[in-house]
Amino acid sequence: MGRRRPARTAREKDRIMPQHWAPRTVAAANGIATDPAFGAVAPPVYLSSTFTFEGFDRARRYDYSRSGNPSRGVLADTLAALEGGAGAVVVSSGMAAVDLVLSLLRPDDLVVAPHDCYSGTRRLLAARRERGHFDVGFVDQGDDAALAGALERVPALVLIESPSNPLLRVVDISAIVARAHAVGSRVAVDNTFLSPALQQPIALGADLVIHSTTKYLNGHSDVVGGAVIAAAAADVETLAAWANVTGVTGAPFDAYLTLRGLRTLFPRIEAQQRTAATLAAFLEAHPRVRAVHYPGLASHPGHALAKAQQAGFGAMVSFDLAGDVDDVARFVAALRLFTLAESLGGVESLVAHPATMTHVGMGPEARRLAGIGDTLLRLSVGLEAEADLVRDLEQGFAALAGTAGGAR
Ligand SMILES: *Cc1c(COP(=O)(O)O)cnc(C)c1O
Repeated sequence: MGRRRPARTAREKDRIMPQHWAPRTVAAANGIATDPAFGAVAPPVYLSSTFTFEGFDRARRYDYSRSGNPSRGVLADTLAALEGGAGAVVVSSGMAAVDLVLSLLRPDDLVVAPHDCYSGTRRLLAARRERGHFDVGFVDQGDDAALAGALERVPALVLIESPSNPLLRVVDISAIVARAHAVGSRVAVDNTFLSPALQQPIALGADLVIHSTTKYLNGHSDVVGGAVIAAAAADVETLAAWANVTGVTGAPFDAYLTLRGLRTLFPRIEAQQRTAATLAAFLEAHPRVRAVHYPGLASHPGHALAKAQQAGFGAMVSFDLAGDVDDVARFVAALRLFTLAESLGGVESLVAHPATMTHVGMGPEARRLAGIGDTLLRLSVGLEAEADLVRDLEQGFAALAGTAGGAR
């Protein structure tokens, strides 16, 4: 880091990413046919840990893969363009991305995080608070008074997740950004649940965007990775320098696979959310379903906001089964296409039971406060035929025949 590197020529930059490209073109085409060595159409994976110097004190653009790597670089440039940021830092997981943002904080700083934030994020925030790295306040950011109270304490960072996991609650990003900026707080948005195809937090005023690229961006459930995109070049520089200091940068092969997955982000998520809307409507009409949480439903409390703030409603759906935990177990056991597993955003459909899986670490009391009941199931809707997925859910409900079900 810090050595002189040859700057890209204007022509080279233009070849990499013309300014007028639509986001889906950036996803499909950024970095294609830019290989100077052999004219490879797909950007090659550079696994080399180190790079030759051109000569004494003459570093090339890359010198060592922890600090920078061409395969990671083309993914970072593509993500930055999709999110409308000045640059991106690609790291080894979504949690590493959250932690990289937290590395900007000092012991007397306060972080305001959603009360129903991703459980790994909650665990990380609580652990760093316990070690005295900073203070944390968990608040319901959809509650105006609670948010105002938190902002009075002048947090250094406000962390937003919208839609939230697993209840798909939607908060007004630009309104929270305006209020946070008014007291001098910076704002980071975890955009994992929608991806830049459906929501662009920097356009809504956010300073930083966090991704678990494990989810929709890679989309094939075969890489764990993360990224931070910053609106300001100075933040990109600080974050990249810190990622190099701690060595949290992502592996080149992971970056290569993630870019390969990212090529089809737009068609994937568009098809997945179409199916998700059908499944949400099917579930809402089913007598053995107490409530469906999907921002695309008119009954969802965040429907209007999601419609204004997002370019689509996404492909995550959660619902409360009418019945008890035994019914949930029977339902899940009868499914064939929906695989019982954590994670989301892949081409295959998954079902998760937050109370015993993703959110078990929260404890029953925090789960109750966040509204995550024992009969809640979360679906990540994949690319299978819609009719097959409906049939699969019907099979799950058929397994409940004869059980009480409880009142709707
Ligand atoms: C999965 C996830 C993370 C953590 O990402 P990993 O890649 O699993 O480390 C963070 N935030 C959200 C919203 C997630 O869904």
